[in-house]
Amino acid sequence: MKQLSILGSTGSIGVSTLEIVAAHPDRFRVSALTAGKNLELLARQIRQFSPRIAAVAAKEDVPRLVQLCDGLEVKIVGGVEGLIEAATADETDMVVAAIVGAAGLVPTAAAIRAGKDIALANKETLVTAGHLFMEIVSSHGVKLYPVDSEHSAIFQSLEGHRSDDISKIILTASGGPFLNTSLEQLAGVTVGDALNHPNWSMGRKITIDSATMMNKGLEVIEARWLFDAPMEKIHINIHPQSIIHSMVEYIDGCVIAQLGMPDMKAPIAYALSYPERVATGIQPLDLTTLTGLTFFKPDLEKFRCLGLAYRAMADGESMPAVMNAANEIAVDAFLEGRIAFLQIARVIEETMDSHIPHDLKSIAEVLQADQWGRDTARDICRRLSN
Ligand code: NAD
Ligand code: MG
Repeated sequence: MKQLSILGSTGSIGVSTLEIVAAHPDRFRVSALTAGKNLELLARQIRQFSPRIAAVAAKEDVPRLVQLCDGLEVKIVGGVEGLIEAATADETDMVVAAIVGAAGLVPTAAAIRAGKDIALANKETLVTAGHLFMEIVSSHGVKLYPVDSEHSAIFQSLEGHRSDDISKIILTASGGPFLNTSLEQLAGVTVGDALNHPNWSMGRKITIDSATMMNKGLEVIEARWLFDAPMEKIHINIHPQSIIHSMVEYIDGCVIAQLGMPDMKAPIAYALSYPERVATGIQPLDLTTLTGLTFFKPDLEKFRCLGLAYRAMADGESMPAVMNAANEIAVDAFLEGRIAFLQIARVIEETMDSHIPHDLKSIAEVLQADQWGRDTARDICRRLSN
């Protein structure tokens, strides 16, 4: 029986994870659940899965959750210390890191230090602090399994192969809702247009990241750390059908790919049950019904966030953390109607332009760079929305 702490259990990844747990009660048990704001859903999850601990991000929300869980046997905690307690629960074998954004850093780092294996959805942890995370993963001897579908595909395509033999890692990208929207039209797109992803149903932040293609930029950085691959070996192919989830090309010219219907339950289940596989209820792929699989290069002029992610990675040190922070602020501002879609890239670029990268030696220093990026990006958003 594998015991799980699920950080961000009320989100899109969290809910899909619990569906897998519910389908395999003989394999998985939930020891801890955590959420940001959705206390009603968290309380329903506590009722269904009986974790020993439940944590909410804000301490002020603890009394309300206690009220909602009246009669249930669960320890309710709050704040960052509460999230850490949930992430490090004694009985937990594996932590599903599914908080969105840099808020996932501290509890995920605590889980690694407590020796827990990690199923990693929260790509922002590797974007902001990849070198530190990979270091503590290795020094604490824990396993880090990718949940991001592309990285799960790469992980699966690498099994049984030597990393020296890799010539390319090819991340596929659906291209998002604006693949066929012109740059002129992009200037006027609405929040509703941007949230309307053609293939994947996900949380709001990552859905906007998919529309700007910053998501793919973050994924390139995530891949760089997860697979210890140099940036030059990581390529992006737009593949609008999202059937091939990513691939690895080897020096002999052979390409290994992972295919399937686009459903996050597949990579989540693989991270939970590795090296075994479990049923997910996902409709099997019927290749004969597909009308075609197409691939092409991304348009870097239209999707400027992609270039910014490459630049942040090349600058290194604190720049990816600052870029990630600016992106989180800009996406929020767009979702709240304060800036236009194309201004997301502008906010990130201006924030990066005013940052001088420096070495980050600890998670505390990463959080400082993150805070600097947020403050600077907020000022820029304020100026743009006036
Ligand atoms: P979501 O917005 O649906 O859920 C986020 C979860 O984190 C919720 O439970 C929320 O309550 C919690 N949360 C938010 N802010 C918090 C805070 N400050 N402190 C503590 N908890 C907080 O997001 P999602 O789509 O499930 O994505 C989660 C992570 O997984 C992201 O990093 C995303 O990039 C990654 N991911 C998601 C998908 C997907 O299909 N949804 C695919 C690949 C990777
Ligand atoms: Mg992905």
